[in-house]
Amino acid sequence: MTDIDNQSAIKQLAGYMNEANIICFYGGAGTSTESGIPDYRSKHGIWTMMEENEQNPLYFANAKRIKENPAAFFNRRKKPGLRPEPNVGHLVLANLEKQGKDIRVITQNVDGMHQLAGHRFVLELHGNHRNWYCMECGRIYKYDEVEYDQHGVPRCYVDSGIVRPSVVYFGENANRETVEKSKHTLKVSDLLIIAGTSLSTPLATRLVQLFEGKHVVIINRDPLDIQPLRTDLFIQRSVGEVLKEVQPYIHTNK
Ligand SMILES: [Zn+2]
Repeated sequence: MTDIDNQSAIKQLAGYMNEANIICFYGGAGTSTESGIPDYRSKHGIWTMMEENEQNPLYFANAKRIKENPAAFFNRRKKPGLRPEPNVGHLVLANLEKQGKDIRVITQNVDGMHQLAGHRFVLELHGNHRNWYCMECGRIYKYDEVEYDQHGVPRCYVDSGIVRPSVVYFGENANRETVEKSKHTLKVSDLLIIAGTSLSTPLATRLVQLFEGKHVVIINRDPLDIQPLRTDLFIQRSVGEVLKEVQPYIHTNK
């Protein structure tokens, strides 16, 4: 893409954003890669690498495994020292919201980056990594309050039940209330920005088809396998860069 093409794409996106009363930002792993969090499905994504090593992600991130082999499940997923921070994309969206722009985030990510950036309207389709709960009694723990036993399994203070993240793993359903709120958000939005996702899950494909608004924009570094909707604009670049460039063109109330 030449600079001129790029500039006109940015201006077109800005025009759509200025025109819209409600913007739905539907984001996937590609919105967090610029925070140093690896994605799943791109060339160097976690799942792609696992598949190349003949490991099946459906097995390793499967909910059944938490109970069957908790030590293996929890020891595998520990990532010491990883303290990701919101990137420019998260910050631009949160800033625009703070300035009165009605941007509603639906995210497939569990990393809490939008909230950390200060965004107020965030629906987490696949749960999150901040809140953990005991599988026996339901007591809630924060991520950094969790205490591990000698096998590296997080345990409840009261009944020694396994304490797990409120992440939606393979074999589990998304939270019903979050799905309902996401449906509503898609129905009332004027502009849908699909960013950093290949929309490969059935839930994602179903949800975005509920959009009844005016324009659909896709921002993704890779071309999409399936084109689920009419697309008005496709920007094949990284999400943070695009949002950073579009920000100066957005009119806000403040
Ligand atoms: Zn408990």
